[in-house]
Amino acid sequence: MNADTNVFKRLETTCIDIKTESPTIKTFVLQCPEDFEFKTGQFVEAGLMGVGEGPFTPSSSHYVKNPIEISIMNVGYMTEKIHKIEEGTTVTMRGPYGNGYPLDKFESKHVLIVGGGVGLAPLRSLMLTLVHDIEDYAGITVCFGARTPADLIYKDQLDDWKQINGLDLHLSVDQVPEGQEWKGKTGVVTTLLKPLDIDKKNTVAAVCGPPIMMKFATLALLEMGLDPSAIYLSMESKMYCGVGLCRHCTIEHYFACKDGPVFTYDQFENPEAIWV
Ligand SMILES: Cc1cc2nc3c(=O)[nH]c(=O)nc-3n(C[C@H](O)[C@H](O)[C@H](O)COP(=O)(O)OP(=O)(O)OC[C@H]3O[C@@H](n4cnc5c(N)ncnc54)[C@H](O)[C@@H]3O)c2cc1C
Repeated sequence: MNADTNVFKRLETTCIDIKTESPTIKTFVLQCPEDFEFKTGQFVEAGLMGVGEGPFTPSSSHYVKNPIEISIMNVGYMTEKIHKIEEGTTVTMRGPYGNGYPLDKFESKHVLIVGGGVGLAPLRSLMLTLVHDIEDYAGITVCFGARTPADLIYKDQLDDWKQINGLDLHLSVDQVPEGQEWKGKTGVVTTLLKPLDIDKKNTVAAVCGPPIMMKFATLALLEMGLDPSAIYLSMESKMYCGVGLCRHCTIEHYFACKDGPVFTYDQFENPEAIWV
C-alpha cells in the first residue's frame, strides 16, 4: 500500500478556535494542511495523538474546505480529552469516509431536516450545504430539538438562519428548568412535525439524533405519508476502522461506515431492530 492509497493516512490539523455550544458540546475549528474535500454527511476519524480517535461528522458546509468544523459531545474517554484541548493543539484526522447525503436525489424536492442533541452536527452541515444552492430545492424546513434551552447548540447562529429566504426554522426543547429562559415551543422534536403542511410526494427528510428520537421522528414522518425511501437516517453505530474492515459497525448486512452512515429507512429488513 503506498502513501496515496493508504486509507488510514492521518492529517495533522491545528485547532484554531473552540466554541462552547452547550454544557456538553463544543465546536472545534480545524485548520487542515491543505483543503479538505468531503461530501456533507460523510464522517472523519478525528482524535488526539496518544489518546485515540473516533468518528465525527463535520458540522460545516462541504463548500468550506478549510478550516472545517466538528461539533463534539463529551461522552467518554476520548471526547473528554478533546474537550480539554486549547487553541493550537494538533488534532489528527483521517477520511472522509462513508457515503454522505445523495444531494442529487434531493434536487427540486422540499427537504425536511429533523434533529436532536449532537445530531444537529451533520444536519447543520447538510443545511448549510443546501443553503449554498437553495434555488435547487423546493424549500428547506428545519426542526431542531434539545433537552433544555441550555442544551440547544448553534444558538449564536439561529437568528441568521431565520433570515434565510426559503428556509423555515422550528425549534423546541423538551423542558425548561427553573432559571433558564425559553420563548419557543416546549415538547419533543416530533411535536414540531405534526403541524407542518408538507407535500408528502415531493418531500425528503433527513433525520439524526439519539436513537429514541430518530425512531419517533421516523414513525411521525411515515404517519405524515412520507415514503420510507424518502427518509434518510444518519446512523451512529460503534465504529472503529471506518473503512469496512473491522466489522464493529454492522447493521443487518451493511457496514455503517462503508455503506452508510446515511441510509434510507426502506433499506432495512427489520427497521424495529436498528434503533437499539
Ligand atoms: C458516523 C458517526 C458520526 C458521528 N458523529 C459525531 C459528531 O459529529 N459529534 C459527536 O459528538 N459524536 C459523533 N459520533 C459519536 C462519537 O463517535 C462517539 O461519541 C465517540 O467516539 C465516543 O468516544 P469516547 O472515547 O469519548 O467514548 P467512550 O469512552 O468510548 O464511550 C462513551 C460512549 O460513547 C459510545 N461510543 C464509543 N465509541 C463509539 C464509536 N466509535 N461510535 C459510536 N459510539 C461510540 C459508547 O457506547 C459509550 O456510550 C458519531 C458516530 C458515528 C458512528
